[in-house]
Order: sequence, then structure tokens, then C-alpha cells
Amino acid sequence: MFKVDQTLLIENLKKNIKSSYGVLIAISILEILMIVYGLITFNFNEPIRIVYFISYFVLLAASVTGIFLLTYYKKEKNIHRFKEAYFYSFFYVTLLCIWSTLISALDTFNGNFPFTFLTVFIAIPFFCLIDPIIYSLYGVIGTIALIITNIFYTQSLEDKTIDFGYYVNIVIFLLIVILATFKSYEVVVTRHKNEETLRIQSLTDQLTNVYNRRALDLKINELMNLKDKTNYSLILIDIDKFKEINDKFGHTYGDTCLKEVVSVISKYLSKMSLFRYGGDEFIVTTTLNRDEINYFINQINNDLRLIDNKVGLQISAGVYNLTNNDSKPDDVLYKVDKALYESKVINSGKCVFFNE
Ligand code: GH3
Ligand code: MG
Repeated sequence: MFKVDQTLLIENLKKNIKSSYGVLIAISILEILMIVYGLITFNFNEPIRIVYFISYFVLLAASVTGIFLLTYYKKEKNIHRFKEAYFYSFFYVTLLCIWSTLISALDTFNGNFPFTFLTVFIAIPFFCLIDPIIYSLYGVIGTIALIITNIFYTQSLEDKTIDFGYYVNIVIFLLIVILATFKSYEVVVTRHKNEETLRIQSLTDQLTNVYNRRALDLKINELMNLKDKTNYSLILIDIDKFKEINDKFGHTYGDTCLKEVVSVISKYLSKMSLFRYGGDEFIVTTTLNRDEINYFINQINNDLRLIDNKVGLQISAGVYNLTNNDSKPDDVLYKVDKALYESKVINSGKCVFFNE
């Protein structure tokens, strides 16, 4: 079933904030020009002129409000807080639809063709991603309103085929609008899916399917920016004598061992994330405390002993608990590497905590 993803609509507005500004500014300028033109030429004794005039003001006020709102939310990083800006844009599109239908109904009333309705409705899906179902509904309502205006208020010509032609044209137009709306939504959904797949691929290690080095760099930078880092630790895990396993049993078997180690570590991953640092080294970022980390490493080695007795798979680990003075990712990696080195030399198969 066709499903509209609200978050996607919101994200898209945030991405296309520049074009939204462009549209709001263009409409504001046009409305100011129309107001000036109205003041010079309109005869305000005619009620229809007053309706035209008021509609210019309504649209100008809404456009200017939109400009202020987008400026206010422009720097907002949290996409969900951007929701209000999205709801405003939705309200704005609704207003544009009502406005264009009203102007075109007035035009039809005066015996003119409904150009405003036709242009505005077809243009909106090209610059703004909105809920295609609701938008199509607006199109249907607008079309019915125009046909009713034409039937009841426009002096019919002798030749009824002209009226009929008008109805056919406007219904064809409606179908094009509905198609364009769904199509532009689909295009964005597909683009979003492709971007997401690429993003995930660029952060994933192909062999083991855990986060890769690039993702680790992003994560460490993120940790460096935290106000209080003291809850976080890095655990550098390295497979013991992995080169020997490769040499004795072949590279393909080595790959299988890497995957086995990952699957064992992953069993315990609830308060942590796992990254492949390179080769046979993995980094875990975690909020576990010292005892929990010791238990975690022991458990991994117990599990490895149970699944693999052919090569005696075992890991060693170095741990570094972040302090608030840490600011450089390289320094942090150096410290955790130093802890691992000690574990390899003195206490293989166990975890060693970094000591200044
Ligand atoms: P230590 O006990 O000191 O950790 O010794 P080690 O043999 O595990 O360490 P060393 O760093 O010398 O060897 C790591 C080996 O991992 C070397 C490299 O050929 C191998 N390696 C790196 N990436 C891969 C991979 O993707 N697949 C396989 N099968 N081997 C890899
Ligand atoms: Mg190793």
C-alpha cells in the first residue's frame, strides 16, 4: 500500500530550504506588485475587486511569515524540531491552493480562463514535496469548484461544446497534477533510499559487516565533542597470532575467523558499538564500567573456545577510559593501542587498562 513518510517530507524541506526561500521571496515580490497595481487601478466599489485585493494581502502575509519561520529554523540540527517549519510549509501550500482556486473561480466568473489555478497546481509538486494524497484531494476539490462556478455563474455560450471542452481540459489537467505529485514523491523516496544505501555502505566494513574505520573516526570525533566524556571507554580488541592462523589454514579460513570473532562480540553489543579498526583489530566504544568490560572480554574468549578448538582463537584487549581532557582522536587511539600492547606482552588473552 502507498505510504507517506512524514520524516522524509520534513527532511526534504530542510534540504531544499534555499528553493523554499526563493519561492517565498518571489511570491512576496509579486504580491507587493499586485497590491500596488490594485491600489492604482482597482475600483473598490466592486466587491469582486476587494476579494482580489484581500487575497494579495493574505498571500503576502503568509509568505513573509514563512520567510521568518524558515530563517528561525534554518540552523536547527534536530530534524524533528524542524517539524513546525514543515507544518507551516504544508499550511502555505494549502493556502496557495485555496488562493489559486479562489482567483481562478473569480476569473471564471468574469468569463476568463483559470490560468492561476492551472499554473499554481502544476508548479507546486515541482518545487515542493508534499503529501501526494492530500495534494491530489486539493486538486479534485479545486477542479470541482471551478466546474461548478462555470456551470452556475458563467454565461454559457450558445455552443455547448466549448463548455464541454473546458471540463475535459480541466479534468486532463487534474490527472496530470495527480501523476506529477505522486511521481515527484516517488523520485524523492527512491533518491533517499539510494543515498541511505550508499551512506551505510560507506560506513560498513565489507567483510565483517560492522562499522568501518571511517565510521570509527566519526564516532571518536563525536565523543571528543561531548561535555562529559568520562562514561565512555574505547576497547581495542586484537586477535592473537592471527598471522599464524592465516599462514597455517589459509586466508579464507582467516576471513571466517574474523567473522566468528565479530559474531561473538556482537552477542554482547547492547551498550556499545563495534568498529573494524583494520586487519584483525576491532574497536568497541562503550559505557560499560571496568568490571563489566573485564567480564565482556572474558566472555568473548570463553565463547571463542567453545566454538573453535581447531586453531585456538583468542583475543586480547586494551582499554582506555576517556577523560574530559581528551580532545585529539589520535591521542586517544595512541593510548588504547598502548594498553593493547601491554596486554599482548604481559597478559595475553586478557584486557589491560591504560595507565599513565
Ligand atoms: P598478535 O598476536 O601480536 O596480534 O599477532 P598477529 O599475527 O595477530 O598480528 P599481525 O598484525 O602480525 O597480523 C595480522 C594479520 O592479519 C596480518 C594480515 O595478513 C592479516 N589480515 C589483515 N586483514 C585481513 C583480512 O581481511 N583477512 C585475513 N584473512 N587476514 C587479514
Ligand atoms: Mg593480532
